[in-house]
Amino acid sequence: VQPVLEIEDVTVVYDSPSGPVQAVSDVNLTVYPGTIVGLIGESGSGKSTLANAIMRLLRGNARLTKGQIRVMGTDIYALSKRELRTFRWSRMSMVFQSAMTALNPVMTVEKQIVDTFRSHRPQMSVKEAKERARDLLRLVRIDEKHLRSFPHELSGGMRQRVVIAIAIALEPQLVIMDEPTTALDVVVQRSILNQIQELQAERGFAILFISHDFSLVTEIASRVAIMYAGRMVENTEAKVLLPEVDHHPYTEGLMRAIPRLTYEDVVIEGIQGHPPDLIDLPSGCAYSPRCPYATAACMEIRPTLHRLSHATIECHLYSPTKEGDSEWPAKQL
Ligand code: ATP
Ligand code: SF4
Ligand code: MG
Repeated sequence: VQPVLEIEDVTVVYDSPSGPVQAVSDVNLTVYPGTIVGLIGESGSGKSTLANAIMRLLRGNARLTKGQIRVMGTDIYALSKRELRTFRWSRMSMVFQSAMTALNPVMTVEKQIVDTFRSHRPQMSVKEAKERARDLLRLVRIDEKHLRSFPHELSGGMRQRVVIAIAIALEPQLVIMDEPTTALDVVVQRSILNQIQELQAERGFAILFISHDFSLVTEIASRVAIMYAGRMVENTEAKVLLPEVDHHPYTEGLMRAIPRLTYEDVVIEGIQGHPPDLIDLPSGCAYSPRCPYATAACMEIRPTLHRLSHATIECHLYSPTKEGDSEWPAKQL
């Protein structure tokens, strides 16, 4: 099967007065049709930058300096501006992190959905676009009386549903969702998440689901990609995200940081330290200052990707040639 999304060796840099900020470095990722892939990493790890790069929405001081991004086999950086306009939203779409600002505050819900149809399907009549708008609202379970509402008249959860409705309006094969539920309270978050799963199952599009909430991502996604300091340090099957399975030390740290209900208490163990400065990245492994397994070799030599049966992991721990050599990190501490 042809992947809906192929990211190859992508590097994105922001020019800044103090030097180039390496926000995304050498990232590789493949998403297959109809699957949900989670993308996690702490704040500043490059998730939104990567999402913007996929949508070819990098602006101002941001540059794709290396790599290729293909959506449905098409190199999106090779498209003309015009081709890109038709491609975006009809083949790939995005639910932005700041969903509240994604809607036009002075336009009714109906007008915003109708405009989406009309700008991409000029041959569609206003009448048909209005009918489709009504269908879409029903699909995301909003009463059609809200077609005439303005965004400020809707609750946060309803606004987010409208944003999702617009993102899937033109039936794209790939929908990027950047923290789609983060701004909402837990109950609303849960209901939107269920709805995203239902829509996905019904319509069959693929989702790149971005979040810093580890448990949320493992629940919704079949595969999970983990970013650290702009690098994709692991790409794993979601179902093996268990403490007893081999993972990147950062992934292990994230798993330990999930609140766990034990018989006596809630155990939360955070990861010590801070991510590195993206202007002055360590020469070796970017995680070495925080890694419990780090050796001198880790601080000098950047690890490469190692393919295990359940995951691809960028860490010297899993390098087959380093076995038995004490200079290299080992699991038994
Ligand atoms: P969050 O979880 O907070 O949304 P993120 O993983 O989406 O974080 P990005 O927004 O992609 O992270 O940012 C990645 C890095 O790029 C951050 O360190 C950020 O400071 C830097 N960055 C983002 N935008 C710019 C910019 N316009 N100029 C310079 N640096 C930037
Ligand atoms: Fe830790 Fe070394 Fe692996 Fe980096 S390469 S994550 S420092 S063990
Ligand atoms: Mg972000």
